[in-house]
Amino acid sequence: MRLATVLRGVLPGCAVVVEALSVALVAKDSAPLYDVIKRNVDIDYGCRPVIMRSNDKHKLHALVSNEQLEDLRRTLDSTVIQIDMLDHLNKRQTAVASIGSGDRFQGGKIAPRGLGTRKLSEYGEIPSILNYNEVYTALKGLEKHYGVELFTAPFKTFEGQIVRGAAVNKAEKIKKDKQYIYLTSGIHARERGGPDNLIYFVGDLLYANKHRIGLTYGNKTYTNSQVKKVLGTGIIFIPMLNPDGVRYDQANSNLWRKNRNPKSANASNPLSVGVDLNRNFDFLWNFTKYFVTDVEPASTNPASQAFYGTGPFSEPESRNMAWAYDIFPKIRWYIDVHSAAGTMLYSWGDDIDQSHDPKQNLFNPAYDGKRGNVTDTIYGEYIDEKDWYNVALQANRTTAAMNAVGGREYVPQQAVGLYPTSGASDDYSFSRWHKNKKLNKVYGYTMEFGYPTNFYPTSAEFIQNILDTNAGFMEFCLTADEIGLKG
Ligand SMILES: [Zn+2]
Repeated sequence: MRLATVLRGVLPGCAVVVEALSVALVAKDSAPLYDVIKRNVDIDYGCRPVIMRSNDKHKLHALVSNEQLEDLRRTLDSTVIQIDMLDHLNKRQTAVASIGSGDRFQGGKIAPRGLGTRKLSEYGEIPSILNYNEVYTALKGLEKHYGVELFTAPFKTFEGQIVRGAAVNKAEKIKKDKQYIYLTSGIHARERGGPDNLIYFVGDLLYANKHRIGLTYGNKTYTNSQVKKVLGTGIIFIPMLNPDGVRYDQANSNLWRKNRNPKSANASNPLSVGVDLNRNFDFLWNFTKYFVTDVEPASTNPASQAFYGTGPFSEPESRNMAWAYDIFPKIRWYIDVHSAAGTMLYSWGDDIDQSHDPKQNLFNPAYDGKRGNVTDTIYGEYIDEKDWYNVALQANRTTAAMNAVGGREYVPQQAVGLYPTSGASDDYSFSRWHKNKKLNKVYGYTMEFGYPTNFYPTSAEFIQNILDTNAGFMEFCLTADEIGLKG
């Protein structure tokens, strides 16, 4: 098989083959790549299109079908943009980490324990990715062994699944107004290992606390007193926001990203099922009104990977994420864990940050239709200077810790990169206080672990991702504690 990333997916009633080739578009300047995104909005650029600088070149990663690839070859000027086929990624998709079968936590009898409390020789004890059911039994294990408080989010998914999370703190009893850190994952179904990163992080924290030891992630270490400090920041987490999508992706290995809501689907196209939950939050959701006409920060097309749904918060999964802010009103710091890019993104994601003109803000109708062009100076999203300093400092510290693990490089970056996003969880979180000053101010982030477009890691990459993200979470909580948990 030539270019062997053929991922077969069987959808109910109809067999489809999803062909996805990993490519990098490479140009000297970023402008021609920006044009590629604008002219090819239906290409799968991962969580969001990100143009990354590498040496004296710029790179845009994408997953393309054979047809899209031919199209790009025909339309792009090869003297300006080169198409690199990432054959090392395409070929090794046959060797991706497996999904666990059965229940390694035996319904909660066994608690999850991560890599930070283990020796290198024991890494093999995490041999496979958690199946969607194990994400739940892992939480039960944390409850049974450490007295972690579980909670059930109020909105059931389309397929009737329940979304669960947990709260941990140094104190015996959880106080709802003493939880300052909020972590979520599994909103994009195909981003394998996201829920695992959170489960093993919390499992390790509690294990290290109980046994009075520190944590080791590659070359990055933390002491027991830092473990205690991090527990004291009060963490709540929802490891799998999109269980329908995860179940479907794990059963079919078809790079499924969205949820499974069929409301907007067209019966002849299985790809038109589902909503991109990370375009469904109430943040400039109605992008055709708020943004300039020639950029599409989301899609109105149900068959697109970035379909925004039928209204802000039309989906139970995005409502569940936001509900936690009502229950834990003092949350101050938030990360939505995604893959795969190798970045830590901070607000804003709709346009370039600026601190000189407060009138240029997402709620000002005078700027409707003017947002999202990152190459003009007509609009930039207002961020208070102090907030800007804080959010960037946190992203720098977190990525520095992830880099110190010694596996791969992570880059801190403003979320807009060179292309805007609407309806995303990180911007929604930060925008809540801007809309209503009685609410707590939340600094929202998107952490993108792994290599660009590599949603199904190999076993070795899966292990590396746990180490990288877990060091990142530790540093994030410590930095949050230092900058301030109350605001
Ligand atoms: Zn994602």
